[in-house]
Amino acid sequence: MTAVKRQSRGDDTPPRHDLHLAELLDFRPDQGIIRLHEQRVVILSAAAMGLMRKELVDTLGLEAARRVLLRFGFADGYHDAVNLRARSRWGSAEDGLRAGAMLHRLEGIVRADVRRVEYDEATGRFEEEVRWHDSYEAEQHVHHYGKSAGPVCWSLAGYSSGFASACLGREIYFREVTCAAQGARHCSVIGRDVQGWGAEAEAIRGDFQAASLGQQVERLRAAVGTRLKELERRERLLERRERELNLLRERVNRHAAARHFVAGSEAMQHVLELAARVAPLDTTVLVEGESGTGKEFVVRLIHDQSPRAAAPFVSINCAALTETLLESELFGHVRGAFTGAVRDKAGLFEVAGAGTIFLDEIGEVAPTVQAKLLRALQEREIRRVGAERTVKIHARVVAATNRDLRKAVDAGAFREDLYFRLGAFIIPVPPLRERREDIPPLAHGFLVRAAARMKKDVRAVSADAMSALMNYRWPGNVRELEHAIERAVILANATSIRPRDLPPEITRKSSPRPGGDVLDLQEQERASIERALVQFDGNRRRAADALNISTVTLWRKMKRYGLS
Ligand SMILES: [Zn+2]
Repeated sequence: MTAVKRQSRGDDTPPRHDLHLAELLDFRPDQGIIRLHEQRVVILSAAAMGLMRKELVDTLGLEAARRVLLRFGFADGYHDAVNLRARSRWGSAEDGLRAGAMLHRLEGIVRADVRRVEYDEATGRFEEEVRWHDSYEAEQHVHHYGKSAGPVCWSLAGYSSGFASACLGREIYFREVTCAAQGARHCSVIGRDVQGWGAEAEAIRGDFQAASLGQQVERLRAAVGTRLKELERRERLLERRERELNLLRERVNRHAAARHFVAGSEAMQHVLELAARVAPLDTTVLVEGESGTGKEFVVRLIHDQSPRAAAPFVSINCAALTETLLESELFGHVRGAFTGAVRDKAGLFEVAGAGTIFLDEIGEVAPTVQAKLLRALQEREIRRVGAERTVKIHARVVAATNRDLRKAVDAGAFREDLYFRLGAFIIPVPPLRERREDIPPLAHGFLVRAAARMKKDVRAVSADAMSALMNYRWPGNVRELEHAIERAVILANATSIRPRDLPPEITRKSSPRPGGDVLDLQEQERASIERALVQFDGNRRRAADALNISTVTLWRKMKRYGLS
């Protein structure tokens, strides 16, 4: 057993057989042929090699390019070793390795400085430490990509591996530990036999035995193809969704038109879109808005456009009933449950079946009933008042409120857990004063219908009267507008409605309308919001409280006026 150990002689004292190797180079300028140890070689500029390398990286990606270059280097090194061995007699394997290093230097690729070689011929144990100075590959990499995160002298590591493997007749792999491309002064490389690499051997070997370039390209093409198909699929899906949504919008608008529901403003179009989107789902919906804004219409729309449309729609005004009565109406009762309960009675949850139950004015519900509602929503079952057994329920719950429920929660008047159950999907319906562009068509619609009903020849609203309608605050919203127009049609003694036909509060000069037109009103609103926000340090809840509007309304207004 002979173990060879030798320290490097350093860069400045190259071994003598350098010259001998140099003589291997045979120039035949007249033939256009250069031979190195009888093998035809070509001189390529480092820049051109660097460009090809860049093409590989850009086309295949860093990982695939690294493997291609490792294998390219391996083939080159293996070839050199086989040819060199055929021509020269090496005293030892170590001499062969040194010859390889010199050849690499001669070819102008790198100046290899062998620091340590340990080779045990009997066991095949091999370890070599090399330093590479001025690697052309590191230079080119930095030139194209800048400083690198990891080693990049792939073809060099491949060359060393190929050369050593051919030289020793066993699998030897070199791996770069640190690289000049990372900013190191030189590249540090280590070569070992397979056993020497231990647990890492499989991964290293895998790099050298990876799929061929053709397979790599095929794999990439397939991956790109799959991605393209996926993109096309998504595009088709989006198109379909868009078509479905347009269909839904059309249907909802037809529905609204058929019921004389005016929703020309952007704010109301948004409400209709929300309703259309949530209708087909089973989600619980909470419709928020002041009295007279058309919440009932939105709720009805949700039911009519849902798969439950053919099933019952039942509604109850929670504010209109006493606690006991409301409970009995919602959940039903058994005979004798309380005085006057002379027979069993099904509650609305049961009556609704697979349809929709609409709980209007939900904010007015007493705490005991809130608790029962929460249980009904959570367990999907109810118990009739006075009954032992429970009944499964299937109805969808849609609620509406004209109060700011969030505020009621904060004040302790409404259960937070019930609020979250009901408010899974909130649709805020804006007050009429926030969609003034809907006032003329609404007024005209009410006018036509009232005139027909009363058989009066009233056909228009005068400009003065319309201006009053546009500037009024409308605390009662659309319902108030409808009543105002009905009254005006009754009082009108001409073909058009005049200001004096309108209720006095609408035309009263003392009402807060400085400037008197919509723009001034909006400017005023904007200014007060800004003032409130400044006053409360941007705290929206407190600002909304001070302005006597909900936080949702405040948010909407801030968005409209571009306040943040
Ligand atoms: Zn390097």
